[in-house]
Amino acid sequence: MNPQLLFWVPAGLRLSLLLIGAGIVWYFFGSIAGLATGLIGMGIALVMQLHYLYRLADWLDHPASARLPDGWGAWTDIFSRLYKLRRDDEKNQAELTEWLARFRQAMSLLPDGVVIMDDVLFLEWCNPAAEKHLGLQLDRDKGMRVTNLIRSPEFMDYIILGRYEQPLTLSLRERKLIVQIIPFENRRQILVTHDVTDAERIEMMRRDFVANASHELRTPLTVINGFLEIAANQPNLAAQTRLDHLKLMREQGLRMQNLIDDMLALTRLESIDYPVRREPVNMWSLLDQVLQEAHALSAGRHEIGLTFDGPDIQGSRDELHSAFSNLVSNAVRYTAAGGVIQLIWKDTEKGPQFSVQDNGIGIRPEHISRLTERFYRVDKSRSRETKGTGLGLAIVKHVLLRHDAVLAVHSVPDQGSTFAVKFSRTCVAKGDRAAPLLDEIV
Ligand code: ADP
Repeated sequence: MNPQLLFWVPAGLRLSLLLIGAGIVWYFFGSIAGLATGLIGMGIALVMQLHYLYRLADWLDHPASARLPDGWGAWTDIFSRLYKLRRDDEKNQAELTEWLARFRQAMSLLPDGVVIMDDVLFLEWCNPAAEKHLGLQLDRDKGMRVTNLIRSPEFMDYIILGRYEQPLTLSLRERKLIVQIIPFENRRQILVTHDVTDAERIEMMRRDFVANASHELRTPLTVINGFLEIAANQPNLAAQTRLDHLKLMREQGLRMQNLIDDMLALTRLESIDYPVRREPVNMWSLLDQVLQEAHALSAGRHEIGLTFDGPDIQGSRDELHSAFSNLVSNAVRYTAAGGVIQLIWKDTEKGPQFSVQDNGIGIRPEHISRLTERFYRVDKSRSRETKGTGLGLAIVKHVLLRHDAVLAVHSVPDQGSTFAVKFSRTCVAKGDRAAPLLDEIV
C-alpha cells in the first residue's frame, strides 16, 4: 500500500475518535468538560509523540547498543522501517568487512608489491611484498610521503618526469625491481613492484655459461684448425710430424667431446623434466667400480685405498657414479705422483657419508665457496693439462641436490683436501644388507 496512506489513515482515524469522544462529553456534560476531554486527549497524544521522539533520538545517538521500541500508531511503521534499514546496514557492513579481509589476504599472498598512495604520494596502505621490496613498514610509515621513504635518485627522477606509462627498473636493497605507478580513481595512485632479482641472476648465469662454453670450445677448435691448415699447406710433412699432429688433434677432439658430454650431463641434471630415478644402490659394487677407475687414471702414480663401512642407499646409480668419479678423478689429478688418496664410505649419526681424502696441492680458503660454479678453476692451466672441463664439481653439486645430500670441503694448501658427500638418514635403502668391513690400500 502507498506509505502516505499507511501514515495518514490511522492518524486521521485516531484524531476523529478523539474529536467524537470530546463531542460526546460536550453533549452530555457541557462545553467545558468536552473541551477539557479534547485537550487532555491531545495532551496524552503529544506526550506519547514526545516519548517516541526521545526514544528515536536516543537510538540515533547509540544505534548499536540502544534497542528500538515497538512504537505505537505511525511510530510502529517508522521503527520497523528503521529496524530493517539497520539490519540491511549491518549485513552490508559484515559483507564489506569480509570482502576487505579477503582482499587483504589475497594482497598479502601476492608475490608483487602493491602500495596505495594519495595524489601527493602519501602512503595509505601497502602489502607485505611491498614492505619487503621497498623496506617499508606500514604501521610506522603510514601517512608519510613515499619519496621520503624510498630514497633512490632514479625513483625521484621517475616521479619528477611523471612518465608513468613506462615502468622503471630500480636497484634497491640489493634487489632488482621493476616498479610502475598507476593512477586510479581521481586522487589515488598505486605503485606496483615486481622483483626480478632471480630472473636477472639466471639470465646472467645463462649468458656467462654460453660465453664460457664458447670460449672453452674455441681453444681446441683453433688448435685443430691450425694443424689442418699446416697439413693442407705442407703436403710433404715428415710422417712422424704428421703423426704427432694427428695425436694432438685427437687430444683436442677428446677435450671437446668431454666438454660437450659434461655440458649435456649438467643440462639433464638441471632439467625438471628429468626427475631422479630412485633405486636401491649397491654401494660396494659402485665404490669398487670407482676405485678401479681411479687406479686406471692414476696409472700406478698414487696409493689409493677404500674403507667401506656404510649401508646401501636409495638413489640413481648412474648419477652417484658420475658424482663420485668426478671427486676421485679430481683427487688423482690434483695430487702429485707418490701421493695418497683414501676413499671412505661410512655411516654417521646424521646419515651415510662418502669422502675422498688426498694429500695433494690443496685449495686456498677464498676459492672454496666458488668451486661448484661452472668453469671455475683455481689453476686454469693445471686443470686443462689434466683434461679438466671445469664442470666436474658443478655436476657433483647438482647430483647431490637431487639426492638431498650436501658437499663439505676441507682443504689446506700444499697439504691436501677432503671432499665429503653427506647423505641424509632418509636415503638409506630399506632392508639394507650388512656391509662388508674392508680396508684396502693398493
Ligand atoms: P676441473 O675439471 O677443472 O677439475 P672441477 O669442477 O672438477 O673442474 O673442479 C674445479 C676446481 O676445483 C679445479 O679446477 C681445481 O682447481 C679445484 N679442485 C677440485 N678438486 C680438487 C682437489 N682434490 N685438490 C685441489 N684442487 C681441487
